[in-house]
Amino acid sequence: MNTLLYSIAERRELRAEWPELDRPVSPGSLVKPFTALAYAQAHHYFYPNHFCRGAADRCWLVKGHGKLGIRDAVAYSCNHYFRQLAMGLPGHATAALLGLFGISVPEAGADTQIGLGTAWQVKPVELAAAYAELLSRPADPGIFPLFDGMRRAARYGTAKALGAGYLAKTGTGPNAKLDGDGYAVIAYPEEAPRELVLLQAAGVTGAKAVEMFRR
Ligand SMILES: [Zn+2]
Repeated sequence: MNTLLYSIAERRELRAEWPELDRPVSPGSLVKPFTALAYAQAHHYFYPNHFCRGAADRCWLVKGHGKLGIRDAVAYSCNHYFRQLAMGLPGHATAALLGLFGISVPEAGADTQIGLGTAWQVKPVELAAAYAELLSRPADPGIFPLFDGMRRAARYGTAKALGAGYLAKTGTGPNAKLDGDGYAVIAYPEEAPRELVLLQAAGVTGAKAVEMFRR
């Protein structure tokens, strides 16, 4: 497992156990909070509800998530919810927002804006820095619900191996040889996070990567 410890307060890398740290990765759903924020900024900070039917809506959870608002959509990383947000945005919106957070990515369609495929690539330190910036602005009306979603992810969502006290978001990216690579951002303490860990584990989901890290 590769890990990168990053200081949110000081905006710098503290420690990395990550060979090839300069090589960009495709961290899947870790892009979703940024797509959500781009949506919020374009829609008067209003996040809608959506109903996920699972496989019929091309969500990773076959049986579906049912009716979701933004907070549980973040907690469960619902593909359908975020695809609906991305479809309400022009192709450059997420890329433009990520640019403000120090990440340059190509303009792309809805599936890329929710982290599917390999088009969205980012260096690990840049990704950690972007999350550090996001997590430094809990009072922003577009970010506050994302904060709560990441809190819920650690309590009962895709990062529930952590439990209370953390903020987390998981992702699963493509891997040419294995089923996928698991990613997660874990920040703490939850009320005012000072540090975050970015992790990558080969051949597992993001949820499983959190479990392995927890052990
Ligand atoms: Zn879903």
